[in-house]
Amino acid sequence: MSAAQLFDVIVVGAGAAGAASAYHLAARGHRVLILEAQSMPRRKPCGGGMAASVQRWFPFDLSPAVDQVIEQVRFTWCLEDPVTAVLPGDAPFWIVQRSRLDQFITQQAVAAGAELLDGAPAETISRDGDHWCVDVAGDRYRSRAVVVADGSSSRFAGQLSLANPRPRFASAVAVEVDTPVVEPNTARFEFGLVKHGFCWAFPRQGGYSIGVGSFIGNSAVDADGVLAQLLPSLGLSPDAGTRVASPLRVWDGHYPLHATGGVVAVGDAASLCDPFLAEGLRPALLSGVRSAEALDRYLAADDSRQADQALQGYSQTMRQQWGESMAWGRRIAQVFYRVPKVGYQLGIKRPTAPQRIAQILSGEMGYGDIAQRVIKRLLFQRG
Ligand SMILES: Cc1cc2nc3c(=O)[nH]c(=O)nc-3n(C[C@H](O)[C@H](O)[C@H](O)COP(=O)(O)OP(=O)(O)OC[C@H]3O[C@@H](n4cnc5c(N)ncnc54)[C@H](O)[C@@H]3O)c2cc1C
Repeated sequence: MSAAQLFDVIVVGAGAAGAASAYHLAARGHRVLILEAQSMPRRKPCGGGMAASVQRWFPFDLSPAVDQVIEQVRFTWCLEDPVTAVLPGDAPFWIVQRSRLDQFITQQAVAAGAELLDGAPAETISRDGDHWCVDVAGDRYRSRAVVVADGSSSRFAGQLSLANPRPRFASAVAVEVDTPVVEPNTARFEFGLVKHGFCWAFPRQGGYSIGVGSFIGNSAVDADGVLAQLLPSLGLSPDAGTRVASPLRVWDGHYPLHATGGVVAVGDAASLCDPFLAEGLRPALLSGVRSAEALDRYLAADDSRQADQALQGYSQTMRQQWGESMAWGRRIAQVFYRVPKVGYQLGIKRPTAPQRIAQILSGEMGYGDIAQRVIKRLLFQRG
């Protein structure tokens, strides 16, 4: 590949968001370069829980990337008081391994004509006349548009004035344990052990993806203490697995996800992750799809007014299709995680709760559909 070539779009980061954007751009016939800092396939700390409804955004079958189909969820409070709910058949939940999912979608992008340069961290993104320049290890790549998809530690979203200028982070610690799985179709959520958050154990092929997340306040989560209690409940040693701390940029307000000149942010770089349940894969894929649609219009625009409208359309669409629900999700998180015991009794233990959660995770409902009732219940019936 010659660095002097002009691409239509350079996508910085081959995670779920960048790969989805690159695929949909390449499939529309655009010349796309994907720059990924790590060598693919790369590991990514993530529970890998994802609603099967994301399939509707891709014309190819995602099942080669799916490790496990979840049929039921079990919620507990301090490992007791369990609620087990069978997920409705129309809202199934998948567990994916990120090394496979992200690689799989990236391969589809390459098959559609995108070029991939992995082990190639973008160092700078700058403007030169009408074009963007992205520098990597002494080479300069040029493009008409850029997709910033460099994840929760994004360097470029802030530099290019995209998304939340003061991002808020949840603390998350991921643990992978290889072991025989007892209930391969059950995802577990435990709400009583973590201050201001929850921990989870998702079955995957040959083991569990386990994690601890804390969503409000800045207090660092005592993950080792939590895991020492959680892991024995799965028949594991209290210190099993290697722990990886991964601060997670969460949604914290409506902000433009585009800037003039044809640059957009997607996925965690755009601060899209759900501040209540840490769902980041669905918004990463959604923003990948919507950014590609908007950049397709941007690249075809006849004048600067049309071009601006195309980019604004992306921010507006993400606000309507994701941000409005997250604004309510943030309010629910602020109330729920301050009084989690009440939240568990009055919210999670309600007979309709598991189905509501499944409907939210599948996109069938937004937090706005349930928020007012949930918040009233938590505020006025506590104690
Ligand atoms: C512990 C944990 C558990 C989670 N569990 C779930 C879950 O079960 N379900 C769910 O929906 N969400 C979950 N999430 C959230 C989810 O992982 C993220 O929201 C999702 O990974 C966002 O995808 P992305 O493509 O935006 O970012 P990423 O997947 O982080 O991809 C960004 C990519 O950019 C690359 N990059 C960075 N800098 C550069 C650079 N300068 N040049 C080129 N490339 C660069 C990185 O190497 C990386 O490959 C979890 C998060 C954590 C931390």
